[in-house]
Amino acid sequence: MKGSTVLLKEHELKATPQRLKIISMLHTHGHISIEDLYNEMRKEFPSVSLATIYKNINQMIQSGLVQEVKLPSQKPVYELVKEPHLHMVCDKCHKIEDIVIGTEKIIEEAEKISGYKILESFITLRGICPDCQKKAAEEA
Ligand SMILES: [Zn+2]
Ligand SMILES: [Zn+2]
Repeated sequence: MKGSTVLLKEHELKATPQRLKIISMLHTHGHISIEDLYNEMRKEFPSVSLATIYKNINQMIQSGLVQEVKLPSQKPVYELVKEPHLHMVCDKCHKIEDIVIGTEKIIEEAEKISGYKILESFITLRGICPDCQKKAAEEA
């Protein structure tokens, strides 16, 4: 995995301590909401404001380093830009996982049927993760 400083530099962003911390949290959590990011950041940067975090995240989105993931009936979460993937959300433990499946076919098909030129897509699947399935089986 590339160092956070290198990542920022590649995206023409200065490696400030706050941005480095945001990237390290995105690495650790995979997907994180602004509120969780804010609560974590405040442990290290007690004076940081929610507005500053939004500003940093938006700069990282504009430079193509971070992307917003819109989930149905949930607040958006943020992740580092990676290969196209779908999101699986567990109904029981609410974890969000990446599933790497080519979405080009789905998009192509949708364009063919609808005549739309598709600009953006957020595909989310809901289910019960293997861990929770195991737990349920043990409890039964
Ligand atoms: Zn689960
Ligand atoms: Zn993801």
